[in-house]
Amino acid sequence: MELWQEMLRQSIDSAKDLIERFGFDKEQAEKLNKLFHIRVNPYYLSLIRYPNDPIWLQCIPDAVELEDHNAPEDPLNEESDSPVPSITHRYPDRVLFLVTSQCSMYCRFCTRKRKVSDSTKINSKWIQDGVDYIAAHPEVRDVVLSGGDPLMVTDYVLERVLASLRAIPHVEIIRLGTKMPCVLPQRITPKLCKMLKKYHPIYVNTHFNHPWECTPEADKACAMLADAGCPIGNQAVLMKGVNDDADVMLELHRKLLKMRVRPYYIYQADLTKGTNHFRTPVRKGLEIMDKLRGHTSGLAIPYYVIDAPGGGGKIPLLPQYVLGRNGKDIILRNYKYEIFTYPDVEEEQPEPQLVVETKYRRRRKMTEKKVVPNEPTKRELEPVGK
Ligand code: SF4
Repeated sequence: MELWQEMLRQSIDSAKDLIERFGFDKEQAEKLNKLFHIRVNPYYLSLIRYPNDPIWLQCIPDAVELEDHNAPEDPLNEESDSPVPSITHRYPDRVLFLVTSQCSMYCRFCTRKRKVSDSTKINSKWIQDGVDYIAAHPEVRDVVLSGGDPLMVTDYVLERVLASLRAIPHVEIIRLGTKMPCVLPQRITPKLCKMLKKYHPIYVNTHFNHPWECTPEADKACAMLADAGCPIGNQAVLMKGVNDDADVMLELHRKLLKMRVRPYYIYQADLTKGTNHFRTPVRKGLEIMDKLRGHTSGLAIPYYVIDAPGGGGKIPLLPQYVLGRNGKDIILRNYKYEIFTYPDVEEEQPEPQLVVETKYRRRRKMTEKKVVPNEPTKRELEPVGK
């Protein structure tokens, strides 16, 4: 057994643990564990500094999770874009491929908690169906391996998936959507990295939400992935009490860049049942973006997006930088709220089109023909009806 697997075995993962370690009431602990399983591995647990700190909030259940009676379980409507259980095919050229229901930590804010941790809903038995679907759809050039966490499967199983995908000529890139560098960095081993190198281009999307997660262990894991040739991007979720503060986000994104992780997205929290206590006003997200842009390197600025409820996809949101127009000038403001004008380029008006009905066409169908002024012959330009 590898170190990371041994650590997983020592996770907090039951209602009994909640009662004994954190003093939860028995009935409440059982309900919370039923709503969404508990799992916190010893590494992530060691990052907690005090009760209800930003690490605690992400991994220890909260009684308010039981109060979201009307929130949807599948706010992004992923199920309607799922042709086979392991695939979500929403965008034209890419698919989400769910290869396991398991994670090294069950994040209390997880948007896919209706399925994650439940092997009756995501099962490795369906991996072949996913590969077959991708092989049969030549428009798919980008495959995002997810779950659960795709690095929860063994190197052997993961290599079989990667080899199957690489055997499909139209699959150009593979992405691993994994939280392991953040929650269990010991999973990133030299053996794993050596194997990944064989199947490039492989991108890694990881998921740090708070600067306290940027530990020496996480730094080492990201360096190993980067040295193995995997570009790494980060997807953070904006959460009340965790990172809804511009200084926290600034520190997080600066630390990520130092770890060779490129900030990619800040997600507005989804409407998922049991997670609504994490939601913040959109105004807060825009305020954070306003305090990032210009105040640190552009490389450290992610997109702030709302994944549209119902399945509309990711929609980027920006603070207001274009204030209006004055004639051909655009009025802009910079990050210090100083006003500037930019003389826009005047666009040429399109040439007016001459519509000519030819005698020939009129006789046949009375249809119109659009021509540019110099194109028709003299004969075609004879008045209609002559
Ligand atoms: S690691 Fe990802 S899939 Fe797993 S519980 Fe956390 S957010 Fe959900």
